[in-house]
Amino acid sequence: MKKIVIIGSGIGGLSTAIILAGLGHDVTVLEKNRQPGGLLRSYTRDGIECETGVHYLGSLDNGQVLRKFFDYLGVTDSIPVSRMGQHGVIDRYLFDSPATHPARFDLPVGLDAYEESLKKTFPAEHTIIEQILVSIRKTSEQLHELDHLYASDNDFSLLDQAESYGEILDQLGCSPGLRSVLAIPSSWIGVPIADCPAYYHNMALASYLSSSWRLEQSGADMAAVLVDRLNELGGKVITAAEVDKITIRSRTVNGVQLKNGECLTSSIVIAAIHPQVVLKMLPDGAVKPSYKNRITKLKNTHSIFTVHARVDANSHPEIPHNIFQVDTDKKGNITDLKYYQFRKSERKNTTLLSILTSGNDELWAPWKETQTGRRGNEYREVKNKYAESLLCEAEELFGSFKDMKILDAYTPLTIRDWVHSPDGSAYGVLRSSSQTLATALLNRTAVKGLCLAGQNVLAPGLIGTIMGSFSTVKLILGADEFRKKIRL
Ligand SMILES: Cc1cc2nc3c(=O)[nH]c(=O)nc-3n(C[C@H](O)[C@H](O)[C@H](O)COP(=O)(O)OP(=O)(O)OC[C@H]3O[C@@H](n4cnc5c(N)ncnc54)[C@H](O)[C@@H]3O)c2cc1C
Repeated sequence: MKKIVIIGSGIGGLSTAIILAGLGHDVTVLEKNRQPGGLLRSYTRDGIECETGVHYLGSLDNGQVLRKFFDYLGVTDSIPVSRMGQHGVIDRYLFDSPATHPARFDLPVGLDAYEESLKKTFPAEHTIIEQILVSIRKTSEQLHELDHLYASDNDFSLLDQAESYGEILDQLGCSPGLRSVLAIPSSWIGVPIADCPAYYHNMALASYLSSSWRLEQSGADMAAVLVDRLNELGGKVITAAEVDKITIRSRTVNGVQLKNGECLTSSIVIAAIHPQVVLKMLPDGAVKPSYKNRITKLKNTHSIFTVHARVDANSHPEIPHNIFQVDTDKKGNITDLKYYQFRKSERKNTTLLSILTSGNDELWAPWKETQTGRRGNEYREVKNKYAESLLCEAEELFGSFKDMKILDAYTPLTIRDWVHSPDGSAYGVLRSSSQTLATALLNRTAVKGLCLAGQNVLAPGLIGTIMGSFSTVKLILGADEFRKKIRL
């Protein structure tokens, strides 16, 4: 039994903790916030649960990857979900320029239905679509089978699909319309299609096509379920415990120091936070300049601005699919994207409308040096104005909203301060083709006993992050022990 300290109680930290506690280790998770969950966690406004980082989930059907993960963690029955796509649609994409693009494309459930829809929408591109589907099918199989987790070498043998998806589509001679439909899945992980490795594009797409779900309860409830499960296995989460330093002796980790000066000793420290933040916690000289340089130079994904508003449920009831309003350039690359979700809320006759769009960083630049809660009225006014403009745009699509009230809006600065993601990056390290080498094996560090977990080590999203947790556990146990002890 090893004493293990995990920094961060997002889905990455909590899932790693549950796996290790289940194997009998003494696990403590340290969380800087007063509540656990990180981006998993929702918050309440006007009695309505507003989500932060979990709007919908993929692959929770029997035998599918997230279901396997939840089963292993022992939380499937405690996280009620409802299936999307009963009416044949998971996502509706609305495009801006009908001359080169379809006015709309509906993402259906299942790979065969997807192929059929693409062919119906782009009848001149059957051959290209068939070729595209071959690699998506292959990735889908790999994703659900999880063989790569059991391989002795790297977790992902990306080499055959590391090429950028944009380049592949160029080579195939894909039209701007088809390209813009295919560009959306890579935006779910924050990577522009021109630079998105084919594997990540296919993984993101296959994970939702396989089956898509919404949480029946809130993100805060989900965080509570994971914490309870960890407690059941003998592990614990300490909140309001911000780690300031990772302590090292003779190039080996020996614990952490909290901001309040308290020290915890441990022979294994897992930092389920951004690697650039970890770097700042290490003493001078703890890692080689080459490692420091590699981590410092990593590019991150963009941030997100979100507005949550309540609207009258009779005129705007829940919509059981997501809606994306997509602006593209002539080539079919996405230039702007807005995500809309209409969900039944906790309040009677009230629907929660959530709108997510890119962070628009320059708007918040004057407040870069300020902290959440201390940004003043002007910031609040700019935020509200921007939120109102997004709601006005939404009314053009959905008709005017009755009894509409903005519940909350959050900016990249909020995300930055809430979870310590650099510049409020939504999905952490950019998984781009041009960063393939720099982002490989990010769960290893140059310090013995210190490894990383969380969305930055393999891929973002619930699936990518939990997969990263298993991959980090494999690093700690070794591939042989992992194969013996972990059956997914
Ligand atoms: C707006 C938005 C929408 C999203 N929508 C979806 C979606 O619909 N579906 C999906 O699958 N994924 C979605 N994602 C992605 C998903 O939320 C993330 O990939 C995932 O939650 C990341 O988990 P994590 O554990 O790596 O990081 P985090 O959740 O960021 O957790 C890190 C934790 O570490 C803590 N921490 C940081 N520094 C310290 C310190 N020094 N000491 C102690 N604790 C510290 C933070 O407070 C935080 O709790 C979305 C993300 C965003 C931003």
